[in-house]
Amino acid sequence: MKTVPEFFGSHVFDDRVMKSSLSSDVYNSLKKTIDEGATLDISVANAVANAMKDWAVKNGATHYTHWFQPLTGITAEKHDSFISPAPDGSVIMEFSGKELIKGEPDASSFPSGGLRATFEARGYTAWDPTSYAFIKGKTLCIPTAFCSYGSEALDKKTPLLRSMEALNKQALRILRLFGNDDVKCVRTSVGPEQEYFLITKEMYDKRPDLRFTGRTLFGAKPPKGQEMDDHYFGVIKPKVAEYMEDLNDELWKLGILAKTEHNEVAPAQHELAPIYTTTNIATDHNQITMEIMQKIAAKHGLVCLLHEKPFAGVNGSGKHNNWSISTDTGINLLSPGETPYENAQFLLFLCAVIKAVDDYQDLLRISVATAGNDHRLGANEAPPAVVSMFLGDELNAVLKAIETDTPYEGAKTTQMKLGVDVLPKFNRDTTDRNRTSPFAFTGNKFEFRMLGSSNSIACANIMLNSAVAESLKIYADRLESAENFKEELDKMIRKTIKDHKKIIFNGNGYDDAWIKEATEERGLLNYRTTPDAIPHLLDKKNTEMLISHKVFTEKELHSRYEITLENYCKTVVIEANTMVDMAKTEISPAIAKYTADLAKAVKNKRIADESIPCGYETGTIKKLSMLNDSIAIKTAELEDAIIKLQDAKNVEEEGYAIRDTLLVKMSELRSFCDQAETLTSKEYWPYPSYADLLFSVK
Ligand code: ADP
Ligand code: MG
Repeated sequence: MKTVPEFFGSHVFDDRVMKSSLSSDVYNSLKKTIDEGATLDISVANAVANAMKDWAVKNGATHYTHWFQPLTGITAEKHDSFISPAPDGSVIMEFSGKELIKGEPDASSFPSGGLRATFEARGYTAWDPTSYAFIKGKTLCIPTAFCSYGSEALDKKTPLLRSMEALNKQALRILRLFGNDDVKCVRTSVGPEQEYFLITKEMYDKRPDLRFTGRTLFGAKPPKGQEMDDHYFGVIKPKVAEYMEDLNDELWKLGILAKTEHNEVAPAQHELAPIYTTTNIATDHNQITMEIMQKIAAKHGLVCLLHEKPFAGVNGSGKHNNWSISTDTGINLLSPGETPYENAQFLLFLCAVIKAVDDYQDLLRISVATAGNDHRLGANEAPPAVVSMFLGDELNAVLKAIETDTPYEGAKTTQMKLGVDVLPKFNRDTTDRNRTSPFAFTGNKFEFRMLGSSNSIACANIMLNSAVAESLKIYADRLESAENFKEELDKMIRKTIKDHKKIIFNGNGYDDAWIKEATEERGLLNYRTTPDAIPHLLDKKNTEMLISHKVFTEKELHSRYEITLENYCKTVVIEANTMVDMAKTEISPAIAKYTADLAKAVKNKRIADESIPCGYETGTIKKLSMLNDSIAIKTAELEDAIIKLQDAKNVEEEGYAIRDTLLVKMSELRSFCDQAETLTSKEYWPYPSYADLLFSVK
């Protein structure tokens, strides 16, 4: 059997393969394209395509695909085989540079938010050489960006790459001012921790709600949930361990650095975290990871649930986006330095993030807004919908000392002057991690915790990178024209702390008192739901910023606004229809049948002997019959509410109607059905219970 180092990356056309299969000229030009974004010559592309094809065919591939990330949030691929007919009736395997660089999938069924006129349904995919090609099954997958005929981005990768470039540009300006002339490039890196549930396929198949919507729409609370806290970091069950082993092997073959795995808080919930890498690649890898997780689960007779809230009343699943900024020379710019001078640079970058998070709270919230995540944010397990930052005691004390020009306790110097020569050395934060903060500093990186488990991490990182690029730009503009660099730096850091300290909160983010303080005293935003949040994507301050850094065009922003709201509406409407269907065709009939059988039992008892007590039967019949009437009424009301959505004039109005009516009706219907479940014999109830689902994997 091969060892991990022997098979790691064996399905990836990575640097090792490139070096060994390309001539040094071709390799060097490709490297220049990858590292510096130089345009690629067609002759180089041809040579790369040929080497890629030979390598892929040798490794069992028969097809290739341009692999891309449309706005559906998942990945897409259209397979073409390498075969090409030869005159003698045989075939040869062919793949040209042109086919590598550009694809033209028929894109008419991908969401475009009005960007693609119907007469030009074609979309274009363009090779992203910064992310390695890989083999999945029998297909060579080429990571690509996806755009329209008019070059507007129709995907998540393009704006992500643009946002990384924006941040690179502004960060380099700052680094030059600090005299770091050797740095060629600044990149953000991300390590996304991925949460998920595992249940058996057998149970899954019995739940139409899980099959159609990814979450349970009905289900009474189980007698045992997560109360005992006995699952978190608990012993991993044998079936789950086998799954994780297989999953790791597959991910490692694809060059994905799967590193840690453990049980999460809820029963059947687990987490996987990779070692961090460049944001663009981390995003591709996270998409592949989610796909492979589901594929491997199927092999084990399991289903991997990536929905944010598969079970009401049980912790949902999120994704923690660990994010930092570093240079190609290996310096993490969010790591406190060794010298006062380095610390001044660190503080400036820290301030840039503080300012960015405060100025663009709304964009961060928007970047994680989906129907699924709405069930999680603000519940007792996930950060609230209010964005705030946690910095830890040490940094807080440093910032306070700077702001108030008072001595910093932790430092040896008596006076905390920011003049860069006397800035004290401070230690890496060692305080307890605040797990309730949406955006926490964790020593040398920030952890953005609002992402939902099924979200592409692209959106959050696009907004984060762009907002920080904007802060850095403002700083660079001022510092470059300053007469006295140190004084200007000092002034700006102080001003940032003063202006933006309202975003810093070190207490319990799950506390109701915090939401009150945040919104009423501090004036922080609280966009509770997706329809509350998304319209603000088009606020002037947001569009201006994103357009000025060339991350989005105005049209692209409009299309994303449309698509996100559309996704929200479609998702909830599918859920509502599924509920109606389940209630009408299975739940109500099951209750009717059970009560009828109970009534029969009562009748038989009475025939046998009038004096046999029938209290249980008659009591249950009465309660269930009342509940079933209410279920019928609520089902009809829900159906009505679905039909009324057609009156909405636009997708924004539809979103509000869903928020205010449809979701309310859904939860009313659910509550009657869940009560009925607790009174109905298990034999009659059409679906596996929460306990069956949550404790199904042994
Ligand atoms: P925890 O559960 O305590 O938050 P984990 O070890 O599960 O910690 O996850 C930490 C994640 O942070 C990992 O994915 C790791 O690779 C990532 N990470 C560590 N350092 C950095 C960094 N400098 N930039 C981005 N991500 C990082
Ligand atoms: Mg974490």
